[in-house]
This record gives sequence, C-alpha cells and structure tokens, in this order.
Amino acid sequence: MASADRQDDRSTGAPAPMARVLRADDPHALDQAAELLARGDVVALPTETVYGLAGVSTRSDAIARIYAVKRRPSHNPLISHVADMAMAERYAHMDEMSFRLAQAFWPGPLTLVLPLRRDAAGGAITPASTAGGDTAALRAPRGFAQGLIARLDLPLAMPSANRSGRISPTSARHVLDDLGADLSLIVDAGPAEIGVESTVARVRRDGIDILRAGVITPEQIAEAA
Ligand code: AMP
Ligand code: MG
Repeated sequence: MASADRQDDRSTGAPAPMARVLRADDPHALDQAAELLARGDVVALPTETVYGLAGVSTRSDAIARIYAVKRRPSHNPLISHVADMAMAERYAHMDEMSFRLAQAFWPGPLTLVLPLRRDAAGGAITPASTAGGDTAALRAPRGFAQGLIARLDLPLAMPSANRSGRISPTSARHVLDDLGADLSLIVDAGPAEIGVESTVARVRRDGIDILRAGVITPEQIAEAA
C-alpha cells in the first residue's frame, strides 16, 4: 500500500495498517524487498550492525521518504550500502588506503567517507542523501542486505530503522513497534549479530580520522592501514 494511503487511514480515524514482517529466509522476502525498493519505497532490513531503513541512494524520492519516516534532520547525511568494492568505485573515488581498509573489513562494519562521483553511470548518489556535500559515506554490509544490494545492483541508503533520537533497533520487533505503521515491509533475520553501529572513518593525507566510534577500533584500523 502506498504511504499516502496509510496517512489517509490515520486522518479518517481508522487504524493504520502495520508493516508485513517476512523472515529473511522466506523465499518471498528478497523479491518483495527488491520490488518495493526498485519503485522508490523504503523497507526495513536486517544488517549485522542494527536494523536499517533502506531506500535506493540514487533516488531523491526514496531518500526523502527515509528522512520523513525517521523525522531525521536533512543536514545529517546517510550511509550508502554497496555490495562490494567494485560497486563502491562506481559511486565514489577510492584512494589506495581506503581501498586497503575496505579490503580488510568489507563486508563488515567499517564505513568510509569518500569523494562522490557525480558522473556515476546510471545516476549518482543523490545530494539529498549526502546533505548536499561532495562526499559519500559507504560500506558493504553482510547477509541479507548484501544479497539484496547485489541483486538490485544499486546502492541503498540505510540509517537505523528508528525514529530520530531513539535507540537503534536490534530486532524486527523493535522496528515494528517504532515504525510499523509507516512501513509496508520489515525483513526479520532475528537479533542483530553485532548490535552496534559501524565505525565511520575518513582517510586524509596525514592520517585517518575516526568520525564516529563503532565496533571496529582505531587500533584495528591502524593495523590494517
Ligand atoms: P546514522 O545516524 O547511524 O545513520 O549514522 C550515520 C553517520 O555517518 C553519522 O555519524 C553521519 O554524520 C555520518 N556520515 C554520513 N555521511 C557522511 C559524510 N558524507 N561525511 C561525514 N560523515 C558522514
Ligand atoms: Mg541511528
């Protein structure tokens, strides 16, 4: 059901329909998530860190919907998720050191801030997703999300699937309780494997900045660099 219909339901006093929850190993989960995302809708997905609210990074309609559902301030940019390094290089410029770090930690919970490719074939990551900046934060997740991204062959912007300011969800139940009335699909892969956000890093000429602490430590990064 389209999101506008759900809002109408609420304005007429009828209870808003809740999201469907499909298990990640349900053969329909991948198909239905791919179909919704391909037409610009958003879907809640499991990743190894926390549950994410996904939309195609190159579509400004999908990105606007993520910000609206989360009630997230538009100046806070989103992390885009890619299937692998080849896909990252389609959307951003990877220096040698970032490439080495991606090789060491992807798929996994390291996000790298990289200069955006504005000329990406098939469309760049939309400025709405980077808060208008000229960099993109990229990482490759593990599991269901990785398979889905590979199948779509498109990057997915995916902040945590909670209302802005609330705790990041580590189960499908948390997502359902917080955002269920605003979504049509939540994919459930059980409790999140890690339960903590990715580390966000940026390689500079004179070192590596950790922009957000996360599950991968500065020591692990220094060792791999
Ligand atoms: P979350 O709010 O959990 O989705 O976390 C996203 C994190 O990545 C926030 O700390 C953002 O500030 C950071 N981030 C996303 N995109 C960029 C970017 N282009 N440059 C720097 N930090 C970014
Ligand atoms: Mg969050």
